[in-house]
Amino acid sequence: MSTVQPTWVEGAAGSGFDVDHLPYGVFTRDDDHPRVGVRIGDLVLDAGAAEPPVALAPYLDAPTLDPLMAAGRATWDAARAWLTEVLTDASAAERVTPHLHPVDEVSLRLPFTVADYVDFYASLDHASNVGRIFRPEAEPLLPNWRHLPVAYHGRAGTVVVSSTDVVRPYGQLKGPADVAPSYAPTARLDIEAEVGFVVGVPTRLGDPVPTSAFADHVFGVVLLNDWSARDVQAWEYVPLGPFLGKSFATSVSAWVTPLAALAPVRVPLPAQEPEPLPYLRVDEPAGYDLALEVVVNGETVTHPPYRTHYWGPAQMLAHLTVNGASLRTGDLYASGTVSGPAREERGSFLELSWGGREPWTAGGEQRTFLEDGDEVVLRATAGTLTLGEVRGRVSPPPRPRSVQKAGES
Ligand code: CA
Repeated sequence: MSTVQPTWVEGAAGSGFDVDHLPYGVFTRDDDHPRVGVRIGDLVLDAGAAEPPVALAPYLDAPTLDPLMAAGRATWDAARAWLTEVLTDASAAERVTPHLHPVDEVSLRLPFTVADYVDFYASLDHASNVGRIFRPEAEPLLPNWRHLPVAYHGRAGTVVVSSTDVVRPYGQLKGPADVAPSYAPTARLDIEAEVGFVVGVPTRLGDPVPTSAFADHVFGVVLLNDWSARDVQAWEYVPLGPFLGKSFATSVSAWVTPLAALAPVRVPLPAQEPEPLPYLRVDEPAGYDLALEVVVNGETVTHPPYRTHYWGPAQMLAHLTVNGASLRTGDLYASGTVSGPAREERGSFLELSWGGREPWTAGGEQRTFLEDGDEVVLRATAGTLTLGEVRGRVSPPPRPRSVQKAGES
């Protein structure tokens, strides 16, 4: 294990935010000047104000994580080494302490500029469950699923930071018995518990990223909630995939866990049969042992395990660039819903309620999908680390709108 000295920061040692973690975020205090922050215990270090070395100052004394993310692995390692030093060297305590602020006294911002957003569908249990729910008479997995990590392009501009309310969206709805669609608020508002990967170092158009270069490009990991309107999705998705049923909001944690902090929880991927094409092959261990938790109105309802996710993040990155598509700093790609084989491991309410047929309970109330006012919190641990949570409350639509069947006026 680590030979790092213990931190002098009170309350941080042994917490999920000890010096083995050091996630990055962006915060404001009494003014409107966002700054890079580093979480230690229940405190946030104002990294730029804590007199970083000259070589690191442009990256840490900044209003977003974008410059640091773009700088690359040598700078990421140098920043992490400096932070570890000042937070473990007791002689630095007097100088650094004025730049530590209680996390509940700061306002956390979306920490980086989201460039493109891609969402995968890489859990074997999730894809199998969804196949069984929607196509009970057929083979649950489509023929391509074991050959490539299936994905769609999402909407980067509606990625929001944890604690942002999510407004119940309107959309076209058409149940199997309806002769025509109606325009109404979704009645099947759902979540998807996912792990997001944040790209730092960009590439040139035409340069695929091999699986071996994953850690040179990916800066860190966030928790991610891919909010989903299942009734909108069900009607619109054929034949081009998810669109308005998912583009209204995607929530991410305010803290980005550096990839380096997750080295101790690397695990081998599950066996992949058939063997993938050469560009998707990895040097193991290429998975990560993250234990997720879905909390609704204060009660934990499921524990999705990321450890057994079928396609790993290096494979996803190789696949999304294999045609030469370039990467930009701030590209975000997500794992797809994390689900395990057991009912209490399902990472969406579509699965937990088995298509709305099997209600579940939270806080003494029965649910299939979410009601207005419900609050969902995604949490995760990675060994000794606690990842930043993703919190979101469902708001009703802001004003009544006309609800019409097609053809009516
Ligand atoms: Ca998803």
